[in-house]
Amino acid sequence: MIGFKINYHTHTARCGHASGTDEDYVRAALANGYTELGFSDHCPWLHASGYVNAQVRMRPEQLLAYAASIRALRDQYAGRIRIGVGLECEHFPHLMGWLRDACAQADISYLILGSHYDLTDEYGMYFGNACCPEDLKLYLKRTIAGMETGLFAYLAHPDLCMRTYPAFDNDCVRMSQELCRAAVSLNMPLEYNLHGIECKVQTRKFRGEGYPCDGFWEIAAREGCTAIIGADAHDPELFDRENYYAAAIKHLSRLGIKRLDKMELFT
Ligand SMILES: [Zn+2]
Ligand SMILES: [Zn+2]
Repeated sequence: MIGFKINYHTHTARCGHASGTDEDYVRAALANGYTELGFSDHCPWLHASGYVNAQVRMRPEQLLAYAASIRALRDQYAGRIRIGVGLECEHFPHLMGWLRDACAQADISYLILGSHYDLTDEYGMYFGNACCPEDLKLYLKRTIAGMETGLFAYLAHPDLCMRTYPAFDNDCVRMSQELCRAAVSLNMPLEYNLHGIECKVQTRKFRGEGYPCDGFWEIAAREGCTAIIGADAHDPELFDRENYYAAAIKHLSRLGIKRLDKMELFT
């Protein structure tokens, strides 16, 4: 077993597309040698229209109970595994004031940037469905804007748009270079996503090359990016997949990419 493992990207059943209880994730992480477990379920955006994307995220009124549940587990498992409560959020500029207030109220310790949608999930495109160079340009623009807010500890699945994009072409190269250069200048780690490995192994979900994308990570290496492994667990069983974590370490080492083995995101 790998000596110790960390993960700050864990979902809960509240998001509508994950399974297991909160404690199931803790038990599985503990059993598999994780020393740090951050929960970062999908942010429950409070849209003015009342729109709720129920297949993607909890409802705003569930946020306090989510944070309380994770904190109770943090206290229950203190001394065995470090647990923290965060959120995976998009950058929706018109809702960032609400986000700051909601996070303060729920005592959220950290945010990771999951650049899933263009400006809003109510009308905006899902970047995981990118299929043309214009989509890549939009993904790049929105993602860098989010990175520049300084609110986020790291960028989750930076190569998300390769989920459906047909092949790693010159437009992908340009997008990757600019994204990686922004990450370096902002000193922001990029996540190597284990859920993506699982999707590839199970040959589902990805119409394109998928992620982690080799072409992207080769550019990340050239540009001097720093990586962090994130499980993006939507099922406690992901923590049993030691081979995914080992493959991530191996790939990043082969490329000579510096890998963070800890972030001080919670105490
Ligand atoms: Zn999810
Ligand atoms: Zn995500």
